[in-house]
Parts: sequence; structure tokens; C-alpha cells
Amino acid sequence: MTQYEPVIGLEIHAELQTRSKMFCSCSADYSNAPEPNTFICPVCTGLPGAMPVLNKKAIEQATLVGLSLNCSINEFNTFARKNYFYPDLPKGYQISQYDLPIASKGWLDILDDTDSPMRVVVRRVHLEEDTAKLAHEKNYALVDFNRAGVPLLEIVSEPDMRTVEAALSYATKIRAILRYLGVNSGDMEKGILRFEANVSVRPRGSSELRTRTEIKNLNSFRALTRASAYEIERQIKVYENGGEVVQETLGWDEAHGVTISQRGKEDAHDYRYFPEPDLPPLQLDRNWINSIKNQLPELPDAKNRRFMEQYELKRREASLLTAEKSLADYFEEVVSKSKSSAKTVHSWLTGEFMRYMNDSGQTLEDITLSAAQFAQLIDMVTDKSISGNSGKVVLNEMLNAKRNCDPSQIVKEKNLAQVSDTGFIQEAIEKILSDNPREVEQFLAGKETIVQWLMGQVARATKGKADPNIAKDLLVKTLEARRK
Ligand code: ADP
Ligand code: MG
Ligand code: ZN
Repeated sequence: MTQYEPVIGLEIHAELQTRSKMFCSCSADYSNAPEPNTFICPVCTGLPGAMPVLNKKAIEQATLVGLSLNCSINEFNTFARKNYFYPDLPKGYQISQYDLPIASKGWLDILDDTDSPMRVVVRRVHLEEDTAKLAHEKNYALVDFNRAGVPLLEIVSEPDMRTVEAALSYATKIRAILRYLGVNSGDMEKGILRFEANVSVRPRGSSELRTRTEIKNLNSFRALTRASAYEIERQIKVYENGGEVVQETLGWDEAHGVTISQRGKEDAHDYRYFPEPDLPPLQLDRNWINSIKNQLPELPDAKNRRFMEQYELKRREASLLTAEKSLADYFEEVVSKSKSSAKTVHSWLTGEFMRYMNDSGQTLEDITLSAAQFAQLIDMVTDKSISGNSGKVVLNEMLNAKRNCDPSQIVKEKNLAQVSDTGFIQEAIEKILSDNPREVEQFLAGKETIVQWLMGQVARATKGKADPNIAKDLLVKTLEARRK
């Protein structure tokens, strides 16, 4: 039986987070518009005679993205009209870039399904404008032009990915980079970031590119993964049954877990691209490009490498933090304020802290706990003023409090201070041993594992306040003493 290999290329649409739209001064912040069709003007509603003007900030952001993806920035690039009619496209064409995009021929290194590094070639990054929004009702549709003309960036990869995992890894990394650059929120549910997967399959070992299908508007990583996997299986079955895959545009039905044919795929010539007569070519100054290059922040890969070296973290440990810039920044702030090791801070942050965020559905932006007080709490556990378990209780208390509170205050209020006073602990141990003669017998008969159970009793009797190392020492000594 033929073994098949998937071939995947991704097209990613990212709205740019500029203040105004791509070709007019209307606000691009359409999700905060008071009402539909309020952030509009003759340009973005396509009235005759209205002239587009380029948004410099969008060009800057596109350049940042291009540079981050190791592309060459084309000093000379042009705009084109992509002609098609749809009710969400007021002009009857979209202004886009065609033969000369702002950036081309870059690459991004990712980890594939076996965690081996691989390089995906980025074919091009180009600027265009978003469409309006349609709301489909029963017998009619409503159109809201607030989104029409919002700057949109399209990032097109070569068909370099060979597994669904690799496609996911690439998409995840692009999202992280866009968020690091502050040019896109990465919000897929709201459609601010959207994926299209181009999928084909071929006999393993062959280098041919077979007919592909394009799955549109995937609005989550889950949808991207499931839709690509489904399409791979579907195409394999088509070939196995002696059929041919038809080039077409597909939608993804999340509820039923199937791709649905939307239309035959149009080719470039269907759009009758021609140079946009209302916009002159864009000539970028080399010095200006260099000044943008200087604005590039430390990107996820570089940060990850630095975290591995500086904080002695494993790659996976570091990437838990560097996936989100805000989390990485928070980590570094806590480390700088704490006397504990970076490893310790890492385990608090990726352990109890992340669990709290997951359980409560909060993001770092919702968290009011200052790095200083988080550090103070971690140090209290490190220097054994409180036990690890009490530390978790205090942390949750501080996170819930939604105000900056002093951990030592909570320790006092809740009476959680750890006791290393041996007299107090010894007293508790004596009582436990006399209450549990059977377990003491078992220990004396050689069942050493019973120590764990007895330690549990000590923790309970002292409400978790006994220093566990001291308590264990005392417990074993007291038990041994009974041998005589
Ligand atoms: P266009 O949309 O201009 O016709 P292409 O068809 O070359 O451009 O590519 C569009 C996207 O489809 C790119 O992301 C590319 O990597 C991907 N792609 C092209 N050919 C294939 C293929 N045979 N299998 C999977 N993906 C493909
Ligand atoms: Mg496409
Ligand atoms: Zn406008």
C-alpha cells in the first residue's frame, strides 16, 4: 500500500494594530465602535472619487514583521487592485500587493513533530486591507463597514510543512512573534488573526506537488489542527479509491468536524490584478529600514536561548515562559527581586501560579500581584518561614485578593508560620505515637514506609506548620528510641 506524506503551506492574515485604517484616517479600533457603520468615510466605503492615502504606521509594522521573519524588505514595492465582487467589499476590489510585496524570501525555524529543528521558507509578506463584516440573518444580511479598510498583513509560507504538528508549531510561533512585536493581539476568536491551510498529499518519498485544497478562516489552533488532519485523511482516501483531488476552497465545520466545499479555487488571473492607479509605488529609504531594524525587540527564540543560559533552564522550561512576552518579563522581574534561585521562581510561576490562571480563566493582564510581593512569598518558603503548602495557600490568597497585600500579613492572619521549635514538634510526635501503637509496632517490625504515613499525621496535627525536615528527623529518632 502506498504511504502518503502531507504537504502543507499556510497563509496567515493578521490585522495590524494601528490607530487608523490603511488608506484613510478612520479609527481602526472597530471592535470598540459605538455602533455599526460609524467608523467610516468616503474612502473606506468606496465612494467615487475618494482617494486612498497610505498609513505609515502600517508600513512600519509590516517592515517589523518582515525583518522578524528574516525576509528581505523590498525598498521598491507596489500596490495592486484585486478585483472581485462581494457585499463586504465596498469598492468592488481590494487594494493589495501583488508582484512587488513589501517583504519576501524569509524563513522561520520551528520544531517539527519529533522536536527536531526545521526551517520553513516564508515566501512573502504583503499589505492589504480588511473587508467589512457581514451578519447573516434569516432572509437578508447586514453589513458593517467599520472593519473595511483596516490594515491587514498576509504572511505566505512555502509548502514546507510535512506534518500537522509542524504547521501548528509554525502558526504558534508566528503568533508569538506578532504579539512580541505588538502589531497584533493574536486573538483568533475575534478574527484578528486568521489561518488558511493549503493541504495536499503525495506518495512518501516523491517530490511532486499535487493538487491542493485551501481551508479558509480557521479561527483557532484546534481548528487548524483538526481541519488539516481531516483534509489529509480525506485526500488519501480519494487517491486510494483511484480518484483525483479537486482544487477548491473549503470551509471548516467545527461542529461536525468536516471540511465543506465552498467554491472552485480561483486562480490569480481571475482577480484581474492591475497596478493601483490611485497609489504611487512605495519607495522605502534604506536608512529608514535600518531605523526600524533597530526597533526590533528580543524575539521568542533569542529570549529562549538567553533564558536557557542565564537561568539554567531546559529548552522546554524556558519556552513555557517565553511563549508570552509578558510572562517572560514577569518572570525576570520576580527573579530580580527574589533571593531564591531562578529554578525555584520558575517552578512557582509555571506551577501554582499558572494553575491559578488556568482555573480562574485569567490572563497575566488580570493579575495584580506585584513581582516584589511574589518574590517575597517565594523567599519565605525558601528560608523555611512557611512550608511549601502554606506558600500555595498564601499565593492563592494574594491572587484572589486583587490588591497588593503583604504575604507576611496573610501568614500572620492565617497563623501559617512554620515552626522549627523542636519542643512543639516533639510534643506532637509523642502524642501521635501513643495514639497509634499499631503503626509503631509495624515500624519496629521493619515496615519503614509507615514513616510517610506518620509524617502525614504530624503535618495534620501541626496544621502543616512543622518544618518537614526537622519533623522527620525527630520522628525517626523517637521511633528508633522505642526499640530499646
Ligand atoms: P497562489 O495562491 O498565488 O496561487 P500558491 O498556490 O503558490 O499561490 O500558494 C498559496 C499557498 O498554498 C502557499 O502557502 C503555498 O505554500 C501553498 N501551496 C502551494 N502549492 C501547494 C501544494 N501542492 N500543497 C500544499 N500547499 C501548497
Ligand atoms: Mg489564498
Ligand atoms: Zn475611512
